[in-house]
Amino acid sequence: MSTQTYQRNYDVIVIGGGVLGAFHAYFAMQRGWKTLLIERDIFPQQASVRNFGLIIPSAMPPGIWRDRALASCDIYEELTSQLGVPLRRVGTQYLAHTAAEARFLKQMSIAMQGSPCPAEFLNAEETIHSSCCLNPEFCSGSLYFPQDLQLDPDQFFRELINWIACTSDCDYLPKTTAVSVRERSSHCQVKTADGRAFHAEHVIVCSGADLQTLFPEEYIERNVQYCKLQMLKISNPENRTLGTSIASPIALTRYPAFLNTQFLQGITLDAPAAELQEHGIQIWMTQNQHNEFILGDSHAYSVDPPTERMSAEVEELIINYARKMFVKLDFQVTDRWCGIYTEEKAAGLFHKQPGERIQLLTGIGGKGMTTGPGLAKENIGQLSL
Ligand SMILES: Cc1cc2nc3c(=O)[nH]c(=O)nc-3n(C[C@H](O)[C@H](O)[C@H](O)COP(=O)(O)OP(=O)(O)OC[C@H]3O[C@@H](n4cnc5c(N)ncnc54)[C@H](O)[C@@H]3O)c2cc1C
Repeated sequence: MSTQTYQRNYDVIVIGGGVLGAFHAYFAMQRGWKTLLIERDIFPQQASVRNFGLIIPSAMPPGIWRDRALASCDIYEELTSQLGVPLRRVGTQYLAHTAAEARFLKQMSIAMQGSPCPAEFLNAEETIHSSCCLNPEFCSGSLYFPQDLQLDPDQFFRELINWIACTSDCDYLPKTTAVSVRERSSHCQVKTADGRAFHAEHVIVCSGADLQTLFPEEYIERNVQYCKLQMLKISNPENRTLGTSIASPIALTRYPAFLNTQFLQGITLDAPAAELQEHGIQIWMTQNQHNEFILGDSHAYSVDPPTERMSAEVEELIINYARKMFVKLDFQVTDRWCGIYTEEKAAGLFHKQPGERIQLLTGIGGKGMTTGPGLAKENIGQLSL
């Protein structure tokens, strides 16, 4: 792996090794450009490896974000087979609890016929039989998207970064913080905290939830907010298998894919209970490759960087709601963590050029794993040296 000797001059320097940064580096090196990827940690350790690992075009509304999600699915499929990393086509089931939710999901399945993101409506009985642990008293139907994918994000980014650094014209500089980026007349200079300087024709900054180290002034009053999410791992002593990844009916009131359809059909579904809304709780249950249950999540928005402190109240609310959806699970928490991303509230992405040769990309919100690869491919495709 070429992490020992670094050149001083590159075509492109990418700062941040999360999903946005790693894929920008990957596509830059695919174009044959000499690329340097700089990451603060040994491997990325922030939102991109703390998530569910779900790649869910089903949650994206038709249009540019769904197109990016579908493009991302193709990218992951090709890359995971090259890297030997498991990619599972787990599919997603969005549950209905009330009769109105079931009617809405049925209508949505009809509206989606012929869509590149096919979906099948399952009635209450079919839904209950589709999974080991669903509570018959909770489920009145579901919408099943068979194409949604899942991978282990930590394993994936380690393998991807090792591979691009080993096999190509891309250097990886871990455990290094970029502290300044300056544009000169014909190139850019990046300085690192350990006093080194690197030069490139273009610099792409994908610093995730760190809006303070580089170009802090660009993010002020720019519609970018932080979002902290809480997650849990719960035990699976009887080695049960969920079958698909499962979303609660709250998803129908959160994701644009469902909100837009409600709007078009003149439907308004009941909002979740006030305490769930207050903490932005929506329930997803998935299983990782070790068959452990991953349960989340909450959304706490702020204008200032949040701490990593976690709330026992939020954890209890998540578990209490999940207990209504599932039976036969013991809900013993074996791990808990939080993750932070940034979200640009208007366009769903913060993409700015503070100089001709410098780009800042963050604020992709909760869809970074699903759409990041497609977005990076598109963005690098538009860049010329
Ligand atoms: C709990 C949770 C669950 C989620 N689930 C999903 C999901 O299932 N599906 C989905 O599509 N999305 C999901 N998301 C959203 C997704 O994880 C994010 O959109 C995405 O990870 C953001 O990627 P990023 O590259 O912008 O940021 P990050 O992953 O935060 O990466 C930024 C990187 O930049 C590095 N960095 C920052 N500043 C510097 C610097 N100055 N010098 C060097 N390095 C620097 C950091 O160390 C970090 O590694 C989830 C998010 C969370 C928190």
